[in-house]
Amino acid sequence: MNIIDMSTQGLSPEEIIEFRKILNQHIKNARIKSKHKKCLLCEKESSFCNSHTIPQFCLRNIAWNGKLNSINTLIDSELLNKDSGINNAGTFHIICRPCDNNIFKDYEKEEAYMGCPTEIPLNQIALKNSLRDIYKHEMEIEMFEACKQIMKDKSPFLSFFVNRFFDAQICTRKRDCQECYEVFNIAKKHLTSSDNWIKLISFDKLPYTVPIAFQGMIVLITGMNGETINDIFNHKRNYSMEYLHLAVFPLEASTAIILFMDSKNTPI
Ligand SMILES: [Zn+2]
Repeated sequence: MNIIDMSTQGLSPEEIIEFRKILNQHIKNARIKSKHKKCLLCEKESSFCNSHTIPQFCLRNIAWNGKLNSINTLIDSELLNKDSGINNAGTFHIICRPCDNNIFKDYEKEEAYMGCPTEIPLNQIALKNSLRDIYKHEMEIEMFEACKQIMKDKSPFLSFFVNRFFDAQICTRKRDCQECYEVFNIAKKHLTSSDNWIKLISFDKLPYTVPIAFQGMIVLITGMNGETINDIFNHKRNYSMEYLHLAVFPLEASTAIILFMDSKNTPI
């Protein structure tokens, strides 16, 4: 994992404003370049809706005056926003409104997580996770392509090193993206089929509402006994990561913590 230093120490207020403008413009360009023509779920040409990666009812349970703190509250960089409205928190734009409304109905109901969730909302969580990460990785690829070109234009004599650095980043993101499409295809197939592909590892309920919400895929390096689950330095083409799906859903008066994976994955 690469950590980008987002510290603005030493920059003047004018420089911070200029950096924010440049960063936002790059994000906007990458979003345009990576935009799909068709909805990934129904494959129809359509405008894309503001899909949430965390059920909206969870966000409402922890919002303050309609606002949520972002991860940047911890990073504390002046280059990023520290909060966002419920409608814009953790969103992606890769599926159409009818698909978002119809396919994720169970996922969006608080009742689905009051007791141990069935495979239906879990499959929908996996589908959302894969869609969000596909969107994110495809944008990152365009961001790296743009940065590569800018640096080559500024310093042509460094082209060799610039190419090597950014091509490695792009290659990694393409691999990540391909793996997300594999998760996506499995979860999409199981919207209409009922064979069990999900292994629920744990479901815990806390008797209070935690002030954070999380939903996403994580890659474990080792299991509980130190055994290797994912060799993150294995770059062979036929090697792919095994993902865990983790959800921390703050409910009205409790919290659901859900951990599950593909039942074919290495047991942990
Ligand atoms: Zn659609």
